[in-house]
Amino acid sequence: MNILDGRKTAHSFEAKIRAEVTALKEKHGREPKLVVVLVGDNPASMAYVKSKEKASKRVGINGVTMRFPSTITEAELLGTVLKLNEDETVDGMIVQLPLPTHINSDNILNHIAPHKDVDGLSFINAGKLANRQYGLLPATPKGVMMLLDHYKVQYEGKDAVVVGASNLVGSPMAKLLLHRGATITVCHSKTKDLASHTKRADILVVATGVVNLIRGEMVKKGAIVVDVGINRVDGKIVGDVNYDEVKEKAALITPVPGGVGPMTINALMFNVLEAFKNRHQ
Ligand code: NAD
Repeated sequence: MNILDGRKTAHSFEAKIRAEVTALKEKHGREPKLVVVLVGDNPASMAYVKSKEKASKRVGINGVTMRFPSTITEAELLGTVLKLNEDETVDGMIVQLPLPTHINSDNILNHIAPHKDVDGLSFINAGKLANRQYGLLPATPKGVMMLLDHYKVQYEGKDAVVVGASNLVGSPMAKLLLHRGATITVCHSKTKDLASHTKRADILVVATGVVNLIRGEMVKKGAIVVDVGINRVDGKIVGDVNYDEVKEKAALITPVPGGVGPMTINALMFNVLEAFKNRHQ
């Protein structure tokens, strides 16, 4: 089998998190608390928030969702974030993206106290990552590294190609691979001749939101392929990689669903633990 099984890996890691939560609760008298702030009723956001609630419950983290209508003003949302920063019982917080267009997301994210920023998206945590001083890391790239490490993937001297350059996934992903000794190429929507880059990849990570972007002929035989994409097509979830074609060439490949998604949630739970432990040191 050449599958990077995120579901199975996340499941095995959850047992570790659960045990650690139990031990921390005994020591400190309460479990770690995660607050997710959800604005509006975007179906994808509601589904992500639901899976965070479920995962928190499974591992014993106190997961709370605060819901606001999409008419909330930026000042009101900022006020909520500042209150959560001050709340001693809250260890980690997430403001679920995307936010309505009348709200400046960067402004909101940058007011989350860095030690509670379990999505790792504030400029402080992003800046730390850029300087190889890790604070809280963005959950998706962290989860991808946890999955690759679990399958004992070697990075040093490997050619790693990341397709997608967002602040959320592609850009931090490239930094993490670079820091582990891979040689990095980052491709994006303006890249000319995408295939000429992807064909050279020993490790290929794709995070674009473009269905079927990566076809079999664009991948080197024996490559390790990570598909971060989550796209809804005819009621089904598919990635950015044509799985049937690419699995014939890849040494290891993530399925969608069941690959990066569960690892993202898992990495988030680890971040909440880390935030809790940092506050109690
Ligand atoms: P984004 O829209 O912010 O960024 C997309 C990136 O892809 C950009 O850098 C863009 O330049 C690049 N791109 C777009 N079209 C391209 C093309 N034709 N060729 C090359 N590059 C192209 O998206 P994002 O937030 O980074 O998310 C990317 C995908 O990953 C989405 O499908 C999203 O749903 C998914 N996602 C999954 C998880 C998970 O847990 N599995 C987490 C976050 C995001």
